[in-house]
Amino acid sequence: MSDLMKGLAQPEVKETVVEYGTLDTANKELLLAAHLVRQRAYAPYSHFKVGSAFRTSPTTNRIFTGCNVENAAFTPTSCAERTALTKAVSEGYQQFAAGAVVAYKPDVFVSPCGVCRQFIREFAGSTDIPIYIAQARDERSPEVPFASEDPVLCTSIFNLLPNSFHAY
Ligand SMILES: [Zn+2]
Repeated sequence: MSDLMKGLAQPEVKETVVEYGTLDTANKELLLAAHLVRQRAYAPYSHFKVGSAFRTSPTTNRIFTGCNVENAAFTPTSCAERTALTKAVSEGYQQFAAGAVVAYKPDVFVSPCGVCRQFIREFAGSTDIPIYIAQARDERSPEVPFASEDPVLCTSIFNLLPNSFHAY
């Protein structure tokens, strides 16, 4: 391996799929927050609702949530992940312990778009941020949106965007 590779961020978390019921309380709470805010998505064009939540570093331990906010001109659209992070940063939080993304396609996990991956990566610095991705099933009751056996993709921003660009 070239020495020039050493400064490039590599995954610190092994990507796995686990059952929702096996997650710890903090990560369940993060997914629930993402699911809740997804209901507020402004998606009149795509009708594709996404919710996201980020937990700030352990010393502050706050959750910021965001939904996608679409626009008639399309380009100004903000994804759920960027909405959540922008809310957090504007409130004075720039360090994140974990993130969650919730949306629904029947046959695949919905993972962050390329723009959001770069946006999340900005706040990872030299430390990876775990990301939990689950399916939002609209037929479930809002109080119990996830079942114990629901699959959750446990990944991280360095998995989603390896060898990423950042400021040096
Ligand atoms: Zn996005």
